[in-house]
Amino acid sequence: MCQKKILILFDIDGTLIKFKSGTAGKIFSDIMEEIFQVKIDKNNLPDFAGQTDLKILKEICEINNISFTSVLANINEVWNKMLLLFGKYCTTDYILLLDGVPELLNTLSKEKNITLGLLTGNFQENAYQKLRTYNLHNFFSFGAFGSDDEDRSKLPPLAIERANKLNKQDVFSNENTIIIGDAPRDISCARANNIKVASVATGNFSFIELEKYKPDLLFDNFKNYISVSRSLCQLIQ
Ligand SMILES: [Mg+2]
Repeated sequence: MCQKKILILFDIDGTLIKFKSGTAGKIFSDIMEEIFQVKIDKNNLPDFAGQTDLKILKEICEINNISFTSVLANINEVWNKMLLLFGKYCTTDYILLLDGVPELLNTLSKEKNITLGLLTGNFQENAYQKLRTYNLHNFFSFGAFGSDDEDRSKLPPLAIERANKLNKQDVFSNENTIIIGDAPRDISCARANNIKVASVATGNFSFIELEKYKPDLLFDNFKNYISVSRSLCQLIQ
């Protein structure tokens, strides 16, 4: 039982689910090719882990000499195409459900003092589209997304504000929020906002790599979801 009110903000890719490697890169390249008629070599893609979709687009533009202003001017077309293309890959053939995730979300969502939200680099519609593959979307009624800001560290205050709005009172702040993610960028985003952070080594980074960034909690995976949920509760005292 959690004694205090806690807001837990989950990353998606590498934390809850995982795409087969190379899928996201191929989709981003295809979109740029379709909309801007630029062929992008797979070696000219930025590192995606923990990045917002807006930031990924910006870096693709920088690396490949495409005007980011023109991407922003066509951003709705970009999101629509991306939603369509990702949609084709949002199946159990391409996406893996990570161990213990449904059990952990079930356990946490039953705690009356815990509120679950999303903090993800995905743009909003795509975040929910990915989660729907394994019916995880209903656990999250709000979040902050890669379409809100290109800078991930600007997202936690938005998520907290939305959580408070939903609760119709100011119960959440950086002090009773936990960010959970698989990448060093999730950790730096939490640190930039003075928020506690839990890491899980189910994405592209190993336990040993993540340990160097000193998250408050570090898990191999969520298989032992009861103990994960207990540790999360104990982190906010
Ligand atoms: Mg991630």
